[in-house]
Amino acid sequence: MKQLLIWKKLTQPTRLEEYYQLLEFARDHGYMLTSLIDWYRHYRSKEHKVLILRHDVDVDPVGAAKMYALEKALGARATYYFRWRTIDTNLMHKMRQDGFEVALHYETLATYCKKQRIRKAAAIDAPILRQCFSKLVDEIKIFRQRFGEMSTIARHGDKRNRLLGIPNWVILSHGDRNLLGIEFEAYDPEIQQQFEAYISDSSITKGFAWQYGTTPEEAIKNDLSPICLLTHPEHWNFSLEKKLKSFVVDFCERLG
Ligand SMILES: [Zn+2]
Repeated sequence: MKQLLIWKKLTQPTRLEEYYQLLEFARDHGYMLTSLIDWYRHYRSKEHKVLILRHDVDVDPVGAAKMYALEKALGARATYYFRWRTIDTNLMHKMRQDGFEVALHYETLATYCKKQRIRKAAAIDAPILRQCFSKLVDEIKIFRQRFGEMSTIARHGDKRNRLLGIPNWVILSHGDRNLLGIEFEAYDPEIQQQFEAYISDSSITKGFAWQYGTTPEEAIKNDLSPICLLTHPEHWNFSLEKKLKSFVVDFCERLG
């Protein structure tokens, strides 16, 4: 099974052209392509047709750079949520200069549990959640110092969260949210319920199927607005360089 997946990854052509065509399709149907914060601040009225481009940079900042270049070429803007491990300072500053939204994909609780070797939900009590909330306040401060102003955040879903059955956003209700200084968390219900369509990509193992009931093309053809489209660069960028890297990593893992 694993060999089959490696083979699939090695032979998978890049999907960036497909992403570009999707953006063109939306633009040709009268959609404005922009970031989450730009939509929230300026384009929430119904007179606008908006496709919100959100990217969670889970593992592939190189892919993020390529998607950003395509969006920029089309005069679009987007939101990029970076984990600490996918930070690319140069790229992030360039994005900000071009009016893109750059913000933190936080995973504070998962990181804490990995460090403390916590694998059971029962071991997580209110003091731990409060401690993680304070850590997130600090993370946001550091992120702002290094990469500039940030108005939203989005939680990352880590393997450890799935193991525990507790998502990272649980910590948000264990402290004074004003201390975060953000306008919203991308998964806040009052934000999500404003989307007429919320669509996410999926991985090669799921055949890249669109998730949550519709496809971007269908939503666009039906004039739904706003559409929030969440994509992960690693599901689109399949360069030779990346393939070789994953092949070497896998080979080394086998050598143990
Ligand atoms: Zn994520």
